[in-house]
Amino acid sequence: MYSYDVVEWGQPLQRREHATPVPTGTQVLLKLKFCGVCHSDVHIRDGYFDLGGGKKFHMNERGMKPPVTLGHEPFGTVLAAGPDAGTVPLGQDRLVFPWTGCGTCARCQQGQDNHCMQPRYVGIHSPGAYADHVLIPHPRYLIDASGIDPAWAATLSCSGLTTYSAVKQLGAIPPAETVAVIGAGGLGLATITALRALGHERIIVLDIDPGKLDAAKAAGALAVVDSRASDAVDQVTRRAGGLLFGVVDLVGSADTASLALSLLRKGGKLVLLGLFGGEIPMSTVVMVQRALTIMGSNVGTPAELRELVALAQTGKLKPLPLERRPLADVSRTLDQLKAGTLSAGRVVLQID
Ligand SMILES: [Zn+2]
Ligand SMILES: [Zn+2]
Repeated sequence: MYSYDVVEWGQPLQRREHATPVPTGTQVLLKLKFCGVCHSDVHIRDGYFDLGGGKKFHMNERGMKPPVTLGHEPFGTVLAAGPDAGTVPLGQDRLVFPWTGCGTCARCQQGQDNHCMQPRYVGIHSPGAYADHVLIPHPRYLIDASGIDPAWAATLSCSGLTTYSAVKQLGAIPPAETVAVIGAGGLGLATITALRALGHERIIVLDIDPGKLDAAKAAGALAVVDSRASDAVDQVTRRAGGLLFGVVDLVGSADTASLALSLLRKGGKLVLLGLFGGEIPMSTVVMVQRALTIMGSNVGTPAELRELVALAQTGKLKPLPLERRPLADVSRTLDQLKAGTLSAGRVVLQID
């Protein structure tokens, strides 16, 4: 098999050839067809996440030692399984839930692999899908996505799931209330489609890039606002008819989180997804008096990914603009994601 690996933090990925693994125990081996390119791989390739305030979270401290194979939006054909895997759909195409836990703790037993304290994420803690084969720990992480474009299906396992789970954490949204989405890149468009799939239409999108704001309108935003405008808060509240029920911040900088908090009504909720990095000073008294909720959301559960795929199969979740590229373009794609120069939508690597 071959893979495109981080051999040195911050450097372009290198193509490496090695022996194809043989699945043992409950493991399943897939021959890959597609893998989406996620923005978090930009940070992982650099070797760290910026935590704000001059602090960094280094991947070395998470036990990652190059060479590593990233790529956590895998879609492929089931090729082989270990002796304890039970019945597996050999020869059939499946989407992979990549956010696998230890499999034995209380969270994993409750189906909340993404909250496991010993995560074994595919493409982070175990070799990922910037490769022609991938090994996953158990067939319960395989999802039948038949009936939808497989390249689009791949993007559901991270950007789709992450945004769907975040939207669900806002709780039931009264139809007359407005939700703002900050950031109109691939995650922003996925958030709009998730909100609309769940029946919510009052969505205002903020970004600094006019082209991305146009894409947000095309994806179904009610209104779009330049987040750097000095009167951005006034523009949003005017369009919404008041302060907002909820904000999903896909950027996660100090500026965007502060903007998000100033948009919330009493009892409002801010869901943070973005990993740009930053810190915000917060008055504890204001938190109480405005009865605010601030929550971080990290990927989602296997059940949520199955729900999302079902929404796509019934046509309620609308596809996003996709660009297909060969796997060899992975480094160039990460460079463009880092520079913010990719056109609207998502890049999915096609794997031969
Ligand atoms: Zn991702
Ligand atoms: Zn666990």
